[in-house]
Amino acid sequence: MGKLVKRPTATIAEQAYVPEIARGLGVTIRRFFKNTFTEDNEIDTVCYPEEQRVYPERFRGIHRLTHRIDGSPRCVACLCCSTACPAQCIHIEPGEYEPDDPKYGYERFPKAFVIDELRCIFCGFCVEACPCDAIRMDTGLHMPPSTSRDHFLYDKETLMSLPGRDGSHETANPRHEPGDPTHPGIDRERGH
Ligand code: SF4
Ligand code: SF4
Repeated sequence: MGKLVKRPTATIAEQAYVPEIARGLGVTIRRFFKNTFTEDNEIDTVCYPEEQRVYPERFRGIHRLTHRIDGSPRCVACLCCSTACPAQCIHIEPGEYEPDDPKYGYERFPKAFVIDELRCIFCGFCVEACPCDAIRMDTGLHMPPSTSRDHFLYDKETLMSLPGRDGSHETANPRHEPGDPTHPGIDRERGH
């Protein structure tokens, strides 16, 4: 059974609204003059873009695609991120490696990888879903304003050009790629 909550009691002045509106306007006008004409204002104003706030360590900024040591994208075009994305703003076109590539038959690469940053809700699900640590939101950048929708469509090249906050394009998480001496030698043809 639900708990009964009493209605709050309001005074006659509060029920009439007008005195309360006048009181609210008084606060607004007082703040306006105080913040406009005195140095001692209480509002923490940032003169953006000359001044910028320092974002917290775990701030989710614009995405980036991490690199392998050879500079290619770490992404294997598994589509986990685009499947997890609630805003459906990730578009990936997977490509196959050439038959003489050690990665052929083992994993794919993204021929196209586009994120519509305008539709993105910055939930971070794509980063959580990625099994390869190939997509991150640790650039520390927010979207620059623009009047053109096209400017918010970040393609593979743009996403790969953005470094993390530490300036690195790679990731600290080790992964043993086909062709590496540390790779266990299993692939789609030889079984797991
Ligand atoms: S942060 Fe969320 S909404 Fe944005 S691309 Fe990733 S999964 Fe989609
Ligand atoms: S970024 Fe990660 S989750 Fe998305 S397709 Fe590439 S490997 Fe898969």
